[in-house]
Amino acid sequence: MKGPSVVIIGSGPGAFYAAESISKKLNSDIDIIDRLPTPFGLIRGGVAPDHQTTKKISLAYTKTAKKDQVCFFGNIEIGKDILIEELRKIYDVTILAIGSELDNKLEIKGSDLKGVHGSAEFVGWYNGHPDYVNLDPNLNTNNIVVIGNGNVAIDIVRVLSKTSEEMLESDIPEYALNSINKSPTQNLYIVGRRGPVQAKFTNVELREMGNLKNCLPIVNNLDLPHELEGDFSDRDRRLIEKNLETLKRFSSIEKRNKEKKLNFIFFHKPIEIIGNEKVKSIKFEKIKLEDNELKNTGEITEINCGLVIAAIGYKPKDIPGLKISNGVVENKNGKIDTGFYAVGWIKRGPTGVIGTNKADGELIADLTSKEFKKQNKDGRKLLIKLIKSKNLKPTSFEDWEKIDSYEKKNAIDPTPRKKILTIKEMLNLCKI
Ligand code: NAP
Repeated sequence: MKGPSVVIIGSGPGAFYAAESISKKLNSDIDIIDRLPTPFGLIRGGVAPDHQTTKKISLAYTKTAKKDQVCFFGNIEIGKDILIEELRKIYDVTILAIGSELDNKLEIKGSDLKGVHGSAEFVGWYNGHPDYVNLDPNLNTNNIVVIGNGNVAIDIVRVLSKTSEEMLESDIPEYALNSINKSPTQNLYIVGRRGPVQAKFTNVELREMGNLKNCLPIVNNLDLPHELEGDFSDRDRRLIEKNLETLKRFSSIEKRNKEKKLNFIFFHKPIEIIGNEKVKSIKFEKIKLEDNELKNTGEITEINCGLVIAAIGYKPKDIPGLKISNGVVENKNGKIDTGFYAVGWIKRGPTGVIGTNKADGELIADLTSKEFKKQNKDGRKLLIKLIKSKNLKPTSFEDWEKIDSYEKKNAIDPTPRKKILTIKEMLNLCKI
């Protein structure tokens, strides 16, 4: 007996873990739809280009995509080409896996100046994401300020401070690599409004900053606590202690002559970006933490810089038919409505690592198998009809494999791939 027809909107980690879990539990047709002609979401467009081992998770997703049950439809934008309501009419189960693709904005004066970017666009730029290849950030500056103390902020400062030799095995596009190499930047600042204890870096990522050829991490010893006070779970305590140990080591590194310095600035909240059209500097107010609340001290610091990147988290795009509140779609344990579920960042907000999505997928597979026993709606057949009637031009997983092998063939060893940068070129290659 055929299981319920399933459609998943989005093709990042959340989507693939859901597809894999459902395919193991149910004899369902599972269709995965993405706005881009290429699959894998943040694995291709978000994970840093020098972290190729992390990107290898796409090999597991490829196995899922190649299952007989699973079918990929790229180059279709849900909410524009096809509405969510249209999908729900033709599928038993609709799963939202659209992530949080928009930047949280710095709500301070000057944040609209040229030279201020959110991390989604900046990371998209150095990852060759078709939406951001023309961003043209101003790297012709001595100082760059990155706001935020999470892994995205660390990714950004690392990519900006590695030498081209250190980026050899990455798939960073040539334009971004050239722009970073030509940049005269000497000082990178990574600024957190809270302290080292509250920083959200994972330790592997933080440690890496101490091993770079041409960049020296600088930490003010006075920002580090003598002892870790407060109530933490054992796990959190271990993680924080590891980070504090790493930062302590950074604070005592002998000041060798390296071209770039990465300055860790804690307890400073951004208050204004100054400039006339373009950013010239950014002002911070020193804060004190009292019961984890930010308390102003009135002490102001200004850093001259030509580029500010706000790595302060993400929010989802508004799609007709969705009720978004507090950065997630309204849902109860992943259930939005009967036959309508959510996984990943759109369900629980932009937190956790790639593997965190696995549990979301398993939960939805459980729910689906409990609530639906058999196929009632003819999903895929009707989708193909709808696509034809709207004259849409989807890419298939085989098309992606053409793009994938073309990108790999065009790369010079040891670079893993030379990314195609426009949707038009991708579609041309697939003769679409
Ligand atoms: P994040 O970990 O939530 O960090 C966001 C940072 O922005 C926090 O330090 C936060 O400070 C700060 N912030 C928020 N609003 C601010 C404001 N108005 N002004 C100043 N600072 C502000 O988010 P993320 O770095 O975007 O990462 C998203 C998720 O992806 C995380 O779960 C992360 O671990 C994951 N990720 C993992 C990797 C990896 O494993 N290698 C790489 C990239 C991303 P407060 O703490 O004070 O709010």
